[in-house]
Amino acid sequence: MKRLLILGGTAEARQLAEQSVAGLVDRLEVITSWAGRTDRAPDVAGRTRLGGFGGAAGLADYLAAEAVDLLVDATHPFAETISMAAHDAAVIADVPRLMLLRPPWRLPPSARWVEVEDLAAAADAVGRFSRRAFLTTGRQTVEAFAGVENVWFLVRLIDPPSAPLPLAAHAVTTGRPPHDLAAEKALIAEHRIDTLVSKSSGGTLPAKITAALELAMPIVLVAPPPPPPGPRAATVEECLGWIESRL
Ligand code: NAP
Repeated sequence: MKRLLILGGTAEARQLAEQSVAGLVDRLEVITSWAGRTDRAPDVAGRTRLGGFGGAAGLADYLAAEAVDLLVDATHPFAETISMAAHDAAVIADVPRLMLLRPPWRLPPSARWVEVEDLAAAADAVGRFSRRAFLTTGRQTVEAFAGVENVWFLVRLIDPPSAPLPLAAHAVTTGRPPHDLAAEKALIAEHRIDTLVSKSSGGTLPAKITAALELAMPIVLVAPPPPPPGPRAATVEECLGWIESRL
């Protein structure tokens, strides 16, 4: 029996846990790890653990202490710190590591979008050509837009904020993906949004992007950070193949 650690926090991590538990139950024990950023408790097949490891050294210690044989980093493409820690810890503990990296979105040529390299550039772009922006880049990114004073923001968060947001004029809407296309369009119309701000997260095209495309609304996309070196899979199926070939 081998042991797999999945670094999670994404829909793909959940699917990978479900499918590897269902398909490889007699050969594999699965542990999924969450950072514990949102209020929802992990609910997935197999064992789960919650909270940080204490950097690469802490993760390497965990891999050794739990006798982990395989590591799949299925965290979000913008979760840069944990992915770099996974890379380093896998080297330290000599555990094979695979990164599940979603393929980038392919937007149609008619799309009105601009890709910027980071949040500061996104704030700059929004300040230049938006008056009412839909900010969907996550709680930890809101601060980057604090200096944009001429724009009203609709901020979407997973959980209600625990402290006032540092934005001059805004409203908050809460909800957990996936969102419904009709509801996204209604939200955009209700708040007279003129620009969508999103991380370029890859994978299945979310309803907010489809809504913006259908409404011919400008989209400011923040490019993902470069991933650490090493083997990558684009889909859950590819991950399962990598795992199975090592059992
Ligand atoms: P991050 O900046 O890369 O990680 C910050 C710290 O959180 C890490 O150093 C680690 O703490 C801990 N951590 C992160 N993921 C973990 C996991 N799966 N299991 C245990 N500890 C973890 O990550 P982030 O951007 O804050 O994202 C946090 C989590 O939310 C990730 O798991 C990610 O998959 C998920 N998520 C992120 C985004 C996003 O846009 N960033 C979007 C959707 C979901 P220690 O150093 O103490 O080990």
